[in-house]
Amino acid sequence: ITGYPKAELLKLDFQTITHPEDLSKDQALADQVIRREIDTYSMEKRYLRKDGSVVWIDLFVSRLAGPAPAQDRFVSVIQDISQRKSAEQKLALLHTELGQRVRVRTLELQESNDRWQQRSQLMAAIGEMMSLLTTARDAAETCRIVALTMPRIFPRSEGAMYLRETNEAQAGSYIQAADWGGPAPLTGKFLAELDCWALRRGQIHCVETYEHSLRCTHDAPRQQSGAAICLPLSVDGHIVSLLHLAWPRGQAQAPEQVLLRTLQEQLSLALSNSRLRAQLQTQALTDPLTELGNRRSFEANLNSAYAAARRLHSPLSLLILDVDHFKSFNDRMGHEAGDLVLRQVGACLRHTLREDEAAFRYGGEEFVVVLQKADADAAARCAERIRLAVAGLEINDRGRLLPPVTVSIGVASCLECADRPERLLSDADAALYRAKAAGRNCVKLAA
Ligand code: GH3
Ligand code: MG
Ligand code: MG
Repeated sequence: ITGYPKAELLKLDFQTITHPEDLSKDQALADQVIRREIDTYSMEKRYLRKDGSVVWIDLFVSRLAGPAPAQDRFVSVIQDISQRKSAEQKLALLHTELGQRVRVRTLELQESNDRWQQRSQLMAAIGEMMSLLTTARDAAETCRIVALTMPRIFPRSEGAMYLRETNEAQAGSYIQAADWGGPAPLTGKFLAELDCWALRRGQIHCVETYEHSLRCTHDAPRQQSGAAICLPLSVDGHIVSLLHLAWPRGQAQAPEQVLLRTLQEQLSLALSNSRLRAQLQTQALTDPLTELGNRRSFEANLNSAYAAARRLHSPLSLLILDVDHFKSFNDRMGHEAGDLVLRQVGACLRHTLREDEAAFRYGGEEFVVVLQKADADAAARCAERIRLAVAGLEINDRGRLLPPVTVSIGVASCLECADRPERLLSDADAALYRAKAAGRNCVKLAA
């Protein structure tokens, strides 16, 4: 057990070969036996073997009583238990490891559960945004809805949504339509295509941290900037909008690519829908030939002008124009030339009218003009201005100068507008009838 040869071992005492940590206990028990306080004891302890290694043993000590205490003898039974001890140690180690592993797994499960919950919250927020977006009437409203719902999708984010400028002079620039999350993350209200990597490359641009990625120039270098994302949104293959998202440093990682692409697709679709809706809305209210408002649009305009006149106690006037002898014009010059005339009369109205004056195509060769805040005198002057302008039109149809056209105009006005708008219309119509009867190319006021 101890590795000492017998002769050598007999020269040593038990204190010398006992492991220092076990000695005091062993000594105390041995002293009790010597003092005859106890007859036996047993303990597990370690010996230091000859080669310096440690061996666990089970010790049993019994006193063989002599005639006097000084003649007492002892018997020690020593059993090697190193194998059991090492098995026990291994078991204990296994136990600790198992405990640790359980703790790690529990944490992992918890984290995955949290992630799953976060993800389903995220999906719910995106779903809610998409459902709101289906009702957006135009691109600007789409942007406002995005700005309202983005803080729920990305709680610590700030950002803005931009729309491509449609007028020629501002080509290649984008205007901020909505923003969220504190100080707007971009320097100005305008954004040039060249200042944004996403717009230049037509791809999602993702910046993880300020130091390590290529930041767009529009994303002003802020001390606190963390992740930032630019998401170009396209309709029919053309970029029409940009979504910019930024997080303060250390607040969040950039969202996963797959989520960004989903968002990009859904928002592009929403923009496409809202544009279509706006187009349909315009089409439903516009006369395609003259590009003036149509009869539906006129009715809505007249009703609201009427309500405003009533509220403000201001006068309101209405003109009805009818092209003279237009049937015979069509017969002589052809229907296409007739269409050209209607277009030119429409353009002439647009150019002749001022603020608070709106023209519509009522139907056929008839037009109406709503004159807000205009009494009968002002309306008659406006009608005369229009009559002269139309009579002065020189219309060129593919190299052929068309004969001049004239209009007859009926004027009706109300000062307090106590009646219904239909009354104004029938009064103006009656006046127009009198203008036709009076020989055409003239203005008549309602009686
Ligand atoms: P009046 O001076 O009494 O108004 O005579 P008129 O010939 O203008 O009146 P009438 O109501 O008899 O004829 C209206 C004509 O307007 C008939 C139709 O051919 C023409 N017209 C209506 N809508 C259009 C259109 O969209 N394009 C063309 N080219 N002609 C139209
Ligand atoms: Mg007519
Ligand atoms: Mg006519």
